[in-house]
Amino acid sequence: MNEYDYIIIGSGASGAAVAEKISSEYDVLILEKGSYLKLSEAHKGYFKSSSCKDFDKHGKVDILSANAVGGTTLLTIGNGIRTQEKKLENLGIDIEKELDEVEKDFDISPIPKNMLGERTKLFIDISKELGFESKIMPKMIDVKKCKNCGKCNMGCQFQAKKTSLYYVEKAISKGAELKTNFEALKIIKRGNEYIVEGKQDENHKSISSKKVIVSAGALDTPKILNNSGIITPKNLFVDVYVTIGGKVNYSFKEEINMAAYIPFKDFMLSPYYSERIIKILGEEKIESKRENIIGIMTKIKDDSFGFVGKDYIEKYCTGKDVQRISNGVAIASQILKKAGVDKIVSTEAAGAHPGGTAPLGITVDNQFKTKMDFYVCDASILPESPGAPPLLSLMALGKKLGENILNSS
Ligand SMILES: Cc1cc2nc3c(=O)[nH]c(=O)nc-3n(C[C@H](O)[C@H](O)[C@H](O)COP(=O)(O)OP(=O)(O)OC[C@H]3O[C@@H](n4cnc5c(N)ncnc54)[C@H](O)[C@@H]3O)c2cc1C
Repeated sequence: MNEYDYIIIGSGASGAAVAEKISSEYDVLILEKGSYLKLSEAHKGYFKSSSCKDFDKHGKVDILSANAVGGTTLLTIGNGIRTQEKKLENLGIDIEKELDEVEKDFDISPIPKNMLGERTKLFIDISKELGFESKIMPKMIDVKKCKNCGKCNMGCQFQAKKTSLYYVEKAISKGAELKTNFEALKIIKRGNEYIVEGKQDENHKSISSKKVIVSAGALDTPKILNNSGIITPKNLFVDVYVTIGGKVNYSFKEEINMAAYIPFKDFMLSPYYSERIIKILGEEKIESKRENIIGIMTKIKDDSFGFVGKDYIEKYCTGKDVQRISNGVAIASQILKKAGVDKIVSTEAAGAHPGGTAPLGITVDNQFKTKMDFYVCDASILPESPGAPPLLSLMALGKKLGENILNSS
């Protein structure tokens, strides 16, 4: 007999949103590879995968994600922009209503003007002088609790940042069961049921259910699919980013990162403080302190040109990607020069939005189904790089799948 109606593998952006939708109607088990972390200690969930291990360090792209209940949403900067809704609509998935719902659930709105820090204001003013109009970033942050510490991506010690823990906890209150430290490895279809094989605390486990939803994120979902007999394409994107910055001879207070942005066709610019800039300046014998540093992130819409293997990731920047980064860095440099930075340095390339590894139209259809008839719903199904924060759309996709399931019952 089946132990559950639905097993959901992964409790991140999409998985938690599906769980919250269907848990009052179905027996749901959420399997999560990570453990339950308090938001204030979310940095413990950081997971860094390095691509191209055989390349020299200049070809390498570090890809960031989190293994914890709530997934990578624990590490976000709280940016909540709508992305890819037109692209998804063309593929037969309309998430307009679900985007509205997520915005309401998390009270997403642009940061109030009185909370914008001096780095952000300088970015907005100088960009304007140069002819570029900035937008204020919509944030998933409770501004009444936020203390402007600028450390959203380490978790949040003031409980101001909103994450998928909210949906996980709602799902549990509706009856869902959560098993932590459980790594799902493979799905086997046997007649009318599925067996999920995995390991928990190094012990082999098998659990059966009527249906399975894979939401393990773009770096792990393809591994589960490949183990289960579904070969995934070479389509990995990560929204490659670099931060350039330097030292000024005046000082700033702490502030929320990425509080404004300028969208371009295939990249975006946003003010961003990176600790790495201090270290790189140090290597150049320039001493600096946190309060003297100003930085700008260039995040590009990179080519889908990477692959997740069994124990390696292949991802590097194409010639077009390098051109996109250069275009962004050229404008960011002009802004920094006008702000008073003499020596500009750059961080290494990294990516925090992996996706595209089980894309819609190739690995899954517009009902989120694979050829083995189980579902996939997370960043792996995005067809191409958004070049912008994808979280809002990923949560909306989770809600959409949940509604499809409820409507079909
Ligand atoms: C530092 C940082 C800052 C970011 N800031 C923003 C931002 O401000 N705004 C924004 O829109 N996006 C941001 N992102 C990106 C965003 O967090 C991700 O795009 C999003 O969380 C991906 O959702 P997902 O559901 O695909 O995967 P995830 O949220 O990563 O969830 C996948 C879950 O599956 C679990 N899992 C993996 N493998 C298994 C397995 N085999 N068995 C069981 N469980 C498994 C993982 O532990 C994880 O909990 C940021 C990312 C990083 C790294």
